[in-house]
Order: sequence, then C-alpha cells, then structure tokens
Amino acid sequence: MFKDKKKKKVEQISVPTLTYCPRCSDPISYLHKEIRYSIDKHGNEKQHIYYYAVHYQGYDKNTKKVQLRRCYLGSDAYDYVERFNNLNLAGAIKQDRYKEYLQQLANRVDQDTIKDLLSRLQQKKS
Ligand SMILES: [Zn+2]
Repeated sequence: MFKDKKKKKVEQISVPTLTYCPRCSDPISYLHKEIRYSIDKHGNEKQHIYYYAVHYQGYDKNTKKVQLRRCYLGSDAYDYVERFNNLNLAGAIKQDRYKEYLQQLANRVDQDTIKDLLSRLQQKKS
C-alpha cells in the first residue's frame, strides 16, 4: 500500500460513440481517464476514476506548447451519493446510464407505480 495521497495516473481512452462533448457540445479530440488514489480513514487505499473530454485548441508558436481545454465528464462511481441513493449513478461518459437508472428504479417501486408510468407512456405515444 502506498501513502502518497497525490498519486494519479492519466490514460488516453477511446469511446467511439462519444464524438461531441456532452458539456460544451464541441468536438472531442480525445478522452482522458484520470485515476486518483486516496487513503480512507481506515487506512485502505481507494481508487477514484474521473473522465474528461479534451479539446485541442491549437499550437502556440511562442510558447511551443499545444493548447488544450478539458471538460469534466464525471466520475466512474459516486460513492458518497450512492450511500443514500444506490442507483449506480455514473458520469456522462456512460451513455446508457439512463437505461440502467430506469432498471434500478423499476426494482424499487411497486407494481401500481409501474402500471401508472406505462399508462402515461402509452398516452404520450398516441
Ligand atoms: Zn467540452
């Protein structure tokens, strides 16, 4: 186990279906997956994963540096929020998250509520 709370690792990842940024709508140059590590109050190492859309902004000839802008797309998991909600909440990078939320919710509501929702959907379609 390491004791460096500031340790992090950044990887470039690809999600072919995610070409435009859900936050700013600009085209995404590439995605960053950032893994940060922390130690909880019991001394256990915890891993936190965060996703960012990276937008190429050009090259600055004076500083000889590539100009990048990052948009935060959320976390892999929301431990603190999940303590009270338990819905497997996910960041914007997980594009099928709403379907999973509905499945989680369907397991938690009674039959009458589901029938009422289905009835409303049928009315909406017609
Ligand atoms: Zn963006």
